[in-house]
Amino acid sequence: MKVFNTLTRKKEELVPITPGEIKMYSCGPTVYNYFHIGNARPFIMFDLLRCYLEYRGYNVRFVQNFTDIDDKVINKANEENTTYDKIAERYIKEYFTDAEGLKIKRATVHPKATDMIDEIIDIVSTLIEKGYAYEAGGDVYYRVKAFPEYGKLSHQPLEDLEAGARIDVREHKEDPMDFALWKGAKPGEPSWDSPWGKGRPGWHIECSAMARKYLGETIDIHTGGVDLIFPHHENEIAQSEAANGKPFAHYWLHNAFLNVDNQKMGKSLGNFFTARDAAAAYGYDTIRFFMVSAHYRTPLNYSQESLEQAKASLARINAAFSNLRFLRGNAQDGDMTEKEAVSAASFDGYRTRFCDAMDDDLNTADAVSVIFELVREINTVCAEKDVTKAYAVAALAILSELCGVLSIGQVEEEKSLDDEIEQLIAQRQAARKAKNWAEADRIRDDLKARGIILEDTPQGVKWSRA
Ligand code: AMP
Ligand code: ZN
Repeated sequence: MKVFNTLTRKKEELVPITPGEIKMYSCGPTVYNYFHIGNARPFIMFDLLRCYLEYRGYNVRFVQNFTDIDDKVINKANEENTTYDKIAERYIKEYFTDAEGLKIKRATVHPKATDMIDEIIDIVSTLIEKGYAYEAGGDVYYRVKAFPEYGKLSHQPLEDLEAGARIDVREHKEDPMDFALWKGAKPGEPSWDSPWGKGRPGWHIECSAMARKYLGETIDIHTGGVDLIFPHHENEIAQSEAANGKPFAHYWLHNAFLNVDNQKMGKSLGNFFTARDAAAAYGYDTIRFFMVSAHYRTPLNYSQESLEQAKASLARINAAFSNLRFLRGNAQDGDMTEKEAVSAASFDGYRTRFCDAMDDDLNTADAVSVIFELVREINTVCAEKDVTKAYAVAALAILSELCGVLSIGQVEEEKSLDDEIEQLIAQRQAARKAKNWAEADRIRDDLKARGIILEDTPQGVKWSRA
């Protein structure tokens, strides 16, 4: 597989440190609110990268953090007259609710910053010992100029980065570029004991601590949104490489923004839709499909129109699933027809093209196009009167496999519900046979009220969701 590496600005072959294993770290949410669908982009796309690597046989160890202590979490706690940990606990729970809806799998580990204090103190102490950090007024700062490679990820010379740097009046930095590793306690704020007095970690250090603790000193892949390249990831590199004396991450992958009216969706800009609200309007499945249909490095615009379009496209895939499930139960027995055999023989080719697209820097846009071509092929063959169960089974297998990798479409059968609907259809057929029209109509109306449409076909009564 090739991935675009921000560090080298090239598409490179992904070669893991340990053959067959991937160590991957993704920056997770700050838990003071529901996440918005801009945040959902890295959560969905990099979990998908992990799932695809697993599909290709890698053993993936995947870490995604929760930033459970920072100014935003503290402010929210103050607003609500509660404690930071209550706020964090609530929004971590809400994260998992949305993640589950969006079919984002759990990471191998989801560490919280506040569980990492010992590891953080350890790294900060090492940085001070090595001369990369200094204590000033109860804070500890990273001495950026001590790390000559600073700027290598954002590909900007130090002077350019320096131009934007400021010293806040409350800070005690030697240089505007320096950043806080440890912040001395302010009155009324949560704090932890440290060799530099009571305080709390700076924003960047938790990721260096977590990656080292759960994945080791050098990891394969590190991911996040493009807004994290500078300063967050640049600072993670400076911290980890100076402390460990080893490269931090071999491949840096960054997703482009999700925009609204061509402007970045962001909490501070106030132009955001939470995943929760977007799902209420369009369904989690549609949000996921919308995200997966675009390559992660292409800017993506969120609009009612684009979501409606995603919904309609997904419905086409789902119609193929329900048609195939129906034919699997109702089409004729026996060997595939010649036309079907030719079509079934082409399925491996679809899988190869799907993987080629995914191997090309996770090109999910092209992978989804391959699925649509497959759906078209299957629909054409299934339109024949003499369609067989054998073909339906084979077509369902490949469609489920490819959609399963992306977690799009009704790959999982809603078994109990489907069984109940099929039972009702059978009861209606029995009622019709017995010329009990009132009962037959009642069942049809009952199903209709539940959004189930019945259709008479040569293979029998077929149902679909409206
Ligand atoms: P935050 O909770 O703000 O630290 O963001 C969590 C993740 O969402 C980070 O990887 C950000 O880079 C990413 N992110 C934030 N806003 C957007 C957006 N509008 N589009 C894509 N990714 C975003
Ligand atoms: Zn991070």
